Amino acid sequence: MKPTLASKRAEMLRALTETPLDLLVIGGGIVGAGIARDAAMRGLRTGLVEQADFAFGTSSRSSRLLHGGLRYLAQGRIGLVHEASVEKKILHQIAPHLAAPLPFIFPTYRSNKHWVLWQLKIGVKIYDLLCGGRNLGKSTWLNRSTLATLVPALNQTQLTGAVRYFDGFTNDARLVLDTLRSAARHGARVSNYTRFTAASRAQMWQAEVTDQLTGATGTIPTRAIVNATGPWADALPHSRVKLRVTKGVHLVVERSRVPVPDTVVMTEGKRILFAIPWGERTILGTTDTDYAGDPARVHTDQADMAYVLAVTNQFFPQARLTAADVISSWAGLRPLIADPHGKPSDISRSHEIRSPEPGWWDVAGGKLTTYRLMAEQTVDQVVKMLMAANGVARRPTRCRTADEPLLPEAEVRGISSVLPPGFSPDLVQHFCAREWAVHLDDVLLRRAGWHYYHREVEALAEQTSRGMAECLGWSPEQRLEEIRRYQQLVQSSPTPR
Ligand SMILES: Cc1cc2nc3c(=O)[nH]c(=O)nc-3n(C[C@H](O)[C@H](O)[C@H](O)COP(=O)(O)OP(=O)(O)OC[C@H]3O[C@@H](n4cnc5c(N)ncnc54)[C@H](O)[C@@H]3O)c2cc1C
Repeated sequence: MKPTLASKRAEMLRALTETPLDLLVIGGGIVGAGIARDAAMRGLRTGLVEQADFAFGTSSRSSRLLHGGLRYLAQGRIGLVHEASVEKKILHQIAPHLAAPLPFIFPTYRSNKHWVLWQLKIGVKIYDLLCGGRNLGKSTWLNRSTLATLVPALNQTQLTGAVRYFDGFTNDARLVLDTLRSAARHGARVSNYTRFTAASRAQMWQAEVTDQLTGATGTIPTRAIVNATGPWADALPHSRVKLRVTKGVHLVVERSRVPVPDTVVMTEGKRILFAIPWGERTILGTTDTDYAGDPARVHTDQADMAYVLAVTNQFFPQARLTAADVISSWAGLRPLIADPHGKPSDISRSHEIRSPEPGWWDVAGGKLTTYRLMAEQTVDQVVKMLMAANGVARRPTRCRTADEPLLPEAEVRGISSVLPPGFSPDLVQHFCAREWAVHLDDVLLRRAGWHYYHREVEALAEQTSRGMAECLGWSPEQRLEEIRRYQQLVQSSPTPR
């Protein structure tokens, strides 16, 4: 008999609760996924719980760049840029399918004194050097006429020239999922829709969790706990994190409306926004504004959209974009280390790993690009504590996450890429059977990303729901309910569809 959802969920909860873990990770974003992979690869008995779907939080709502951050170089944060630039290259080596070299064109204008061509020319050369070897491509300079040929739609008024440099382009949600697939291959027990609610400590920690799908509860015994809950991190019991959370939105439009051969950097005073080529689409973003609401309810509002469209129309005057041109949008929250002073875009993107209580770690801040390093540093600390307490059955091995491919090529071909895959029933089956998809939006928004890419997504929702119904044994009513749930979720954002 085919296992039911309830029996599969009960089995996962039993696997997490029956034998003490060395490490429980709370949060299935990129930071939690990276920690679970590293810990499992070193031989620790590892579990991970995520309250919603994997990558539900910030890690499916970023700009998708693997970057040292030219902007941070301008702020003099050399250490941060070096660290992230080295990580960008490591990710290109271990996960080439999710780290495509991406050229950037950064035009400069006489009217903006914050970004001056000769300074940028020096900056991009330093940027190349900070990669600890060769960058993903060599930086160059472009004069006005070359630029006009390369990007004819770009505003030419007061244009002084441009620099061209390289970073990486990823698919953030896929990076989380593939990292978790790798963690699971190394023995980690990972469970989505499983919420951590409380913990107490005697000889070891007892973590209380609730299955969000069945309502079942359980207690996970574990020697160590890592709080990797991103924008939720300061609200977790036992957490000592202090965050300043800022919102950033992205809009997707037809590439033909903003025809960019490479990513084009659009400046607004000191701020920079991007027009990123994404197959037949262009991604526009982002904003950076303080946010104080429920992290689960963050969405793109009219003011966010108007701001991004206005900056884009200024740089590409013929585009004349309006809200009706927006195919999709996403809004995410940066979990920045608290600094009540200064503008959101000036706050450091560095990370912190703290242990406020024995066996408990808070990991906060950082970037998608630096997740592997954050994981390595966190697991180093956990291993040290476990060894000192004589608390592991087997001596953990060294960190290998920078050397071993994320997944074998055969496991990602046709499934995982910077562009959404084409629809196929087999793929939907794969997402359900091998990638923990339980709701329609798990596939449309995160595993395949079709929702963000296609304007006519209703037909895809219908086909996907039929495939999922077959795989997960949904009744006709359940299937319709899943379509309703997906529509409600995406309609809470005021994108025009
Ligand atoms: C607009 C924007 C653009 C960005 N662009 C880039 C970029 O281009 N490059 C880059 O390197 N970085 C970028 N970043 C930063 C990067 O996306 C984040 O640093 C990173 O995704 C944070 O990951 P995380 O795992 O810490 O948090 P999240 O991805 O938010 O994961 C935390 C998870 O914890 C779960 N959780 C919360 N409470 C509980 C609980 N009680 N029990 C179980 N689970 C729980 C949540 O549901 C969530 O899924 C960007 C961020 C934003 C907002």
